[in-house]
This record gives sequence, structure tokens and C-alpha cells, in this order.
Amino acid sequence: MTEPTPIAIVGAAGRMGTSLLEEAARRPDLRVVAAVVTPEWTGPDHLGPDQVPVFRSIPDLDEAAPRVVIDFTSPAAAIQVARFCAGTHRALVSGTTGLDDADLQELRRCAASAPTVWASNFSVGVNLLEALVEQATAAFGPEAEVEIFEAHHRHKVDAPSGTALTLGHAVARARGTSLESIARFTHQGHAGPRDPAEVGFQVLRGGDIVGEHSVWFCAHGERLELSHRATDRGIFARGALRAARWAASASPGFYSMRDVLSGPSTPAPASS
Ligand code: NAD
Repeated sequence: MTEPTPIAIVGAAGRMGTSLLEEAARRPDLRVVAAVVTPEWTGPDHLGPDQVPVFRSIPDLDEAAPRVVIDFTSPAAAIQVARFCAGTHRALVSGTTGLDDADLQELRRCAASAPTVWASNFSVGVNLLEALVEQATAAFGPEAEVEIFEAHHRHKVDAPSGTALTLGHAVARARGTSLESIARFTHQGHAGPRDPAEVGFQVLRGGDIVGEHSVWFCAHGERLELSHRATDRGIFARGALRAARWAASASPGFYSMRDVLSGPSTPAPASS
């Protein structure tokens, strides 16, 4: 039997980190060797069902020798993790959202030295939704106006969600334009008639909603609604772990979850 792939989880004490530790404990092909928390951490020295040792800083990770680092933290920490992975040639799987253009550019720069999978949503369903949204946008053409709805729990800090923006980018791609030129984030007051070319975003925050996304295609005489509801954070964790397994044997480069779902990765040359 092949050895399990050693992985580290950064943000291990958070909601996603906790779910990742639980899901990883069920997989014989992965072994979590480090649970990374902030230096201020005053909790236990081991976390999760497998009692993984806690590390209080990202550079300390080196001594645990993970092959893949999984990051679900904040934009600032995600960049720190990406630089660590590039410097040590370790694969990175990042699900952190709220990254701006400069952050994403830095992630791509780091990916030249280490295989990097970044996804605003690691669920299989949402990645299928993205493909369906692209297809529906192309099929309707200018006939349908597009509105994107998203709802999340009260603790979520960025809006619209990274997933809603990814779906917006799918619409823009199918129309051969950029999301920046067609996105509309607010409707208030005497806003005037709707511009048919724009993509509207509606955001709701409350309670413990794990994540809901709907894309409406409003045409004259018909409406298509494509929806996804996450009811268990485990779907993101399982997707990220699947991506970790995939990234462990990938060549350096910047990848999406759609790359992961489309089949085995291209292995890095034996010399690297
Ligand atoms: P959370 O606040 O519960 O957890 C984040 C954790 O990261 C916290 O424990 C925090 O202390 C820790 N952290 C911050 N900086 C750190 C550092 N430098 N070193 C170590 N730990 C650090 O948040 P969450 O709900 O787990 O979400 C985390 C991120 O993942 C958010 O950006 C969220 O939007 C995103 N998310 C993505 C997906 C996806 O599928 N891509 C799914 C759910 C959440």
C-alpha cells in the first residue's frame, strides 16, 4: 500500500479547519501532520480526532514536512502561506475568499514555483453550477437578464461571496466581457430601469446558513433558476482534500477545482 500523503491545515481552529480535520481523519490516503493556528492560540496543543500537533506559525511548518498545505484563513494569511509554499516547493490548496486582484496576482506568481489549487468553492455541485451558468448565458444571449443571489451565516466577513463572484465571472466569460464592466452590487432609491447587460448581486446574511447560491435568467415569458444549497460544511472540506490529493502529484501552476474534477493531474517531472 502507498504511504499516505502528509498534509498541513492552516486555519485549523476555524470552522473549515475543524471540518477538514474531521474529514481527513476518515481518509487512509492522507495524514495531517500539522494543524496551524495563530500565535495567540491558547487552546490545546493537539486538534481533531487524530490529535494533530498544533503549530503557532507558518514558517514552523517546515519541520512537519507536509507535501501539501491546505489554507482556509484570511487574505493576509493566505498570501503568507502561498509565499511559504513557493519558497519550499510545497503544493497549496487554498479556499480563502475575499482576495483582491493584487492578492490573486500574488497567488498566481507563487504558483509558478508550487502547484496551487485555488477555488472560491470546493463543492462538486457549485463547480457544476458554474459550468451550467456559462452554458445558460451563452444559450440565452441578450434575451435574459441575469441576477445572482447568495445567502450565508452571520459570521461571514466578505460580500458578495467568492462563489457569487465566480458565478458572475462565468456569466462575463460567456458574454466575452469582464465582470467589472457589468456587475451591479446595489439597487436603492430611484435607480431607474434595469440595464439588460448588467449582472445584479443580492446578498443575505443570517443565522447558520452554510451557503446558498441561485442564478436567475429572466427572459420575456420564461425564467430559468439554477440553484445550489450547501447544508454541510463537509462538502467543501471533502472537495479540498480531493484537491490536495490531486495537487500532491501536479506540476507547478495555478489550477481551479474544475481542473481537479476533470481528471488526474499531470505529474511533476521526477527531477523537481
Ligand atoms: P473562520 O473564521 O472560522 O476560520 C478562519 C481561521 O483562520 C481562524 O481560526 C483564524 O484564527 C485562522 N487564521 C487567521 N490567520 C491565520 C494565520 N496567519 N495562521 C493560522 N491561522 C490563521 O472562517 P471559516 O468559515 O473557516 O472560513 C475561512 C475562509 O474560507 C474564509 O475566507 C471563507 O470565506 C472561506 N471558505 C471557503 C470555502 C470554499 O469552498 N472555498 C468554503 C467555506 C469557507
